[in-house]
Amino acid sequence: MISVEEALEKVLSYVEVLEPERKSILNCLGQVLAEGVYSTINIPPLDNSAMDGFALRSEDTREATQSSPRYLAVVGEVAAGSLPTNEVRPGTAIRIMTGAPLPEGADAVVRFEDTDETSRKSSKNDLSQIGILCQAKKGLNVRCRGEDIAEGDLVLKKGEVLRPQEIGVLASLGRSAALVIRRPIVAVLATGDELIGVDQPLAPGKIHDSNTYTIAAEVSRYGGIPKILGIGRDSVQSLTEKIDEGLDADMLITSGGVSKGDYDIVKDVLAERGEVGFWTVCMKPGKPLAFGVIKKVVGRKKKKVPHLGLPGNPVSSMITFEQFARPAILKMMGKKVLGKPAIQAIIDDDIVNTDGRRLFVRVNVTRRGGQYYASVTGPQGSGILTSMVRANGLAVIPESSHAVKAGDTVEVQMLDWAEEQSQSKTLPIVSIVGKSQSGKTMLMEQLIAEFKKRDCRVAAIKHCHGGMEIDHPGKDSWRYAQAGSDAVCISSPDKLAFMKNSNHELSIEEIMPIIGPEFDLVLVEGFKKSKLPKIEVHRKELGNDLLCSPEELSAVVTDGSLDTLVADTCKLTVFRSSDTVAVADFIEKNFVFKSPSSAC
Ligand code: AMP
Ligand code: MG
Repeated sequence: MISVEEALEKVLSYVEVLEPERKSILNCLGQVLAEGVYSTINIPPLDNSAMDGFALRSEDTREATQSSPRYLAVVGEVAAGSLPTNEVRPGTAIRIMTGAPLPEGADAVVRFEDTDETSRKSSKNDLSQIGILCQAKKGLNVRCRGEDIAEGDLVLKKGEVLRPQEIGVLASLGRSAALVIRRPIVAVLATGDELIGVDQPLAPGKIHDSNTYTIAAEVSRYGGIPKILGIGRDSVQSLTEKIDEGLDADMLITSGGVSKGDYDIVKDVLAERGEVGFWTVCMKPGKPLAFGVIKKVVGRKKKKVPHLGLPGNPVSSMITFEQFARPAILKMMGKKVLGKPAIQAIIDDDIVNTDGRRLFVRVNVTRRGGQYYASVTGPQGSGILTSMVRANGLAVIPESSHAVKAGDTVEVQMLDWAEEQSQSKTLPIVSIVGKSQSGKTMLMEQLIAEFKKRDCRVAAIKHCHGGMEIDHPGKDSWRYAQAGSDAVCISSPDKLAFMKNSNHELSIEEIMPIIGPEFDLVLVEGFKKSKLPKIEVHRKELGNDLLCSPEELSAVVTDGSLDTLVADTCKLTVFRSSDTVAVADFIEKNFVFKSPSSAC
């Protein structure tokens, strides 16, 4: 068995960077520039205004203020796209729009907001004069000729990947075409007697060919052009014919027929056609892999087409594509960065690695409280393509690691990134409010116990107005704080206490990252001024009125008769103090986020 790295090195040793082509900038997104691009113009071509306002001589605004404006004669107007007809002489100004060329003589632009133009207009005053309300420095709101790009600059280097912004720069230089490394054409062939086309009805014993579509989509995603060859049958003749159709491509990718079954004859056909290596790669899924070159003769020239034979199982073929085909396509396109972006994440599940291969586990990565978490996306069979649908990354468990425990940090190759990634989960938080002595803490206790019964992970936050019980003088933590430490953390084998000095009252948003993401529910006592969903505890002895206004509340829990509160709370859900289960049901139904992994 060879390692993933050795296999990748061999694959890359067989593929070359393709030749350049000149094409419309509209069609070269993601391609690599094959020439340095120099500018033949200045951008901007002339000094111009960055604001709508008045072009003037900065020295004419000396000591101008709101209460003591400097008045200038307006001697013209210039809009973007036209040229000024006048020059700005001392004591004059020209009305100017954003992007319009700066008139001769002017060295600054004062925006409309810093002039008295609006008040002149509303009081129908003379507009042949303008009052300048602030002193302008030389160069204020002026964009200088060539400040973005100067004539002769090397603007884009050879080897740069064209993103929308580079394409925009090419357009601003007046170039409608660019010389780029061409996209590879990748022939895609599915193999197997059990496969039928996507449009055909399923017959007994048959399955739809999905690999063709997954692989073609992957080829396009990474910048190649897929050439679909269809389905090759498990016979030498059928495979030979199909492979011949794919030999004008830059690369051939087959799926299936490379393991040890009786009908796995892709490798035999290929062995006759070129130099082919068959490997078992030390990875799971995706152990069997074929790679080599198929020889072909074009006119008098002999050519070699790289061939990658992926395993047939849909997940295996996708994961081996990611590891080997993707870097090969990127190399052919002239890219330098061939690896997948990887992150470190805390794994939510135990994983065992029984046979010493590198394990690629399908995971869903979320970011919570500034930390990445990865959860395994259900059953991991190599035929279960929906495990990829639920995944946005592959956790990579090294061959040397026999087991990973929930809470361990693992490396995750991201299949999707940034904006494609699922949003982070926000924790459900409910605040229990009420007058002093209303029974908030008792309800907190009862709810915590009730949610624990429901298998929820609960965090509780108490808002104290005064000092903190745990902050006792003489204790080590107190002494650290006295010595000036801004935060003190006390950690024991099974507990963590954290105190942080703050120069302001901490908001719940500031507290939550410290609490951490691993809870199903956060119950807060107090924080009545926050925007959290609130349940007020009402006690009849303390009066009929409520602490919060009913619009702010989600529910009320009272020991009084429900009627006493009706006027105020006609739209509110009201619970009896004794009915903790009903309150918990209400919280669970309305606020608790249910994920498949959380039992709550
Ligand atoms: P093979 O590697 O040819 O032995 O195939 C392994 C498994 O993958 C078998 O269960 C095949 O039916 C399945 N398989 C092979 N090719 C495809 C395909 N193009 N689409 C969906 N499943 C496939
Ligand atoms: Mg097969």
